[in-house]
Amino acid sequence: MELRYRWSALTHVFSRGGIHALYNSLKLRPIYVDGDVLALAQAFGGGATFSEVLIGASPTQSGKFQRAFPALCEAKILVDAESTDEDIIDFFRDHYLGHPYVSIAYFILTDACNLACKYCFVENRIPAGHLFRQMDVATVVNGLDFFGRLMRLVPAHFEEEKTIVLYGGEPLINIVALRVLLGEVAVRRSDGRFPQNVRINMVSNATLVTPEVARLLAENRVGVAVSLDGGATATNSARQSKDGTSVFDDACRGFDVLRAEGVDVGVSCTLTEGSLENFDATLEVLLERFQAKTLGFNILLSSDAYPLASGYDERASRAIIKGFEMFRRRNVFEDRMMRKLNAFTKGEVYPFDCGAAGGGQIIIAPDGAVGICHGYLGSRKYFMTTVDDKRFDPARDAVFVEWAQRSPLAMPQCRACPALGICGGGCPLNADHEGGSIWECDRRFCVHALATLEWLIWDLYRQMQDLGSTDDMGA
Ligand code: SF4
Ligand code: SF4
Repeated sequence: MELRYRWSALTHVFSRGGIHALYNSLKLRPIYVDGDVLALAQAFGGGATFSEVLIGASPTQSGKFQRAFPALCEAKILVDAESTDEDIIDFFRDHYLGHPYVSIAYFILTDACNLACKYCFVENRIPAGHLFRQMDVATVVNGLDFFGRLMRLVPAHFEEEKTIVLYGGEPLINIVALRVLLGEVAVRRSDGRFPQNVRINMVSNATLVTPEVARLLAENRVGVAVSLDGGATATNSARQSKDGTSVFDDACRGFDVLRAEGVDVGVSCTLTEGSLENFDATLEVLLERFQAKTLGFNILLSSDAYPLASGYDERASRAIIKGFEMFRRRNVFEDRMMRKLNAFTKGEVYPFDCGAAGGGQIIIAPDGAVGICHGYLGSRKYFMTTVDDKRFDPARDAVFVEWAQRSPLAMPQCRACPALGICGGGCPLNADHEGGSIWECDRRFCVHALATLEWLIWDLYRQMQDLGSTDDMGA
C-alpha cells in the first residue's frame, strides 16, 4: 500500500523573488523550491499519497517534484501522515530538557560598582536602602566548596567543562576576594576537587585595571569581557562615572593594559541608542581600535530606569546581523549570532539561550546567598539557599526544576513559531519583568530570533547558489 504523507505543521515557508524556502522548525534544514514544487508539497495537506498529489500535474511539474520529494521527506517538510506534530515536539522536549545540572557559577565579588551606567540591569534593580557588600574570603571558599559539591552530584558530568564568571557590580573593586578565588581554583584543579577544564571569565568595566591586576588575570588565564558600547560618544552616552570623568578613556586604558599583559580580552557591547545611532562607527571602533576577536552584543533589557525608544528591538536585531556579516569576513567571533548559526548549521535544536534557563548555573551573592540569575540580585527572587547548605541538590529544588524546563520546547505559545529550534527562549528575567512570568516570551528576543532565522535561511541560499547546488529542487 502506498504511504501517506502530510504537510508538517512545523513547516514554514519563506519566500523571496519566486524562490520558497521550506523549513521545519525542529529539523532546521531549509529546502529551496519553486512555486510548482511548493504547490504540490502543500497539496499533501493533512494526508495524501504521492500518486494522489501528482494527478493533474504536468510532466515538468511532476519531474521537478519527484526530484525534490526525497529531500522534502528528509527535511521533514512532509512527514508520515500517521504522526502528529504534538508527539514530535514532545519527543524533542523530552530529549533536550531534563534534570538541572550546574556547570556555571557566577561569583558576585561585590554588588557595588564604581560607575553608574544608566541601563545596568543589576544595579537598577537593587532596592533603595540596600547595603552594598563585598564578598569575604570565607564566602569565596564556601562558594567554591558549594560549586564543587554540585559538580559531583552527577559523576558522569564532573570532567565536563565548568565555568566560573566573576561578576558584579564591578568585580575589580574586590581584589582580595579575586586573589583568593584564583588561588583556590588553582589548588582545587591540582588536587582533583575541580576538573581540569574550569574556565574563569570576568565581566568588567576595566576602569580599575592596573598592570599588577592584569598580570594576575593573565597568570590565571582569566578571560575578560570589557563593557564598551562603541566609541567615546556611544560609550559615554549611557556608561557614566559617578564623578563625571569619561568612562571611555578609563576603559580604553584598562583594555590596553589587559592586552599588553597578555590577557585574553574581548568586548561586551550593549546596543544602546548611542551605539545604534552611528552603527558603522561602532563597528569600526570595535574592529579597528579594539581589534576585538571575541565580542558579544547585548540587547538592552526593558527597564523603567532606561526606557527604550520605539522600534529599538528591530534596530538592534538588524545591527547584530549587519555586525555579524562584517565580523565573519574578518574571522571575528560574535557570540549571540554564533550560537544560532551553530544550531542551524549542525541541525541541532538550541533549547536554552542562557545558563539559568536549563537550570545550569548558580549565582553566589556577596553575602553567600545562592540563586539562579544575577538579574534578581536586588529582589532575591529565585534565591533559594546559601553556600553553607551542604544538602542542596538542584534536581530536587523547585526553582531549578522549573527553570530546567524553561525553553520554547515547553512553551505552548512557541509551538507554531518558525524560530522554535534556534531561539533558546531569550531571557526569562526579561520575560518575567515584562509579562509577569518566566514562562512568557521575551519579546525582544523573538524579534531577534525571527530576524536571525530569516537571515540564516537566505544566507545559506546565497552560499548554495555560489556552489551551484540549488538547481535540482526546482529552485
Ligand atoms: S535570565 Fe536573563 S539575566 Fe538571567 S542569566 Fe538568563 S539571560 Fe541573563
Ligand atoms: S520565544 Fe519567541 S522567537 Fe522564541 S520560539 Fe517562542 S515565539 Fe518564537
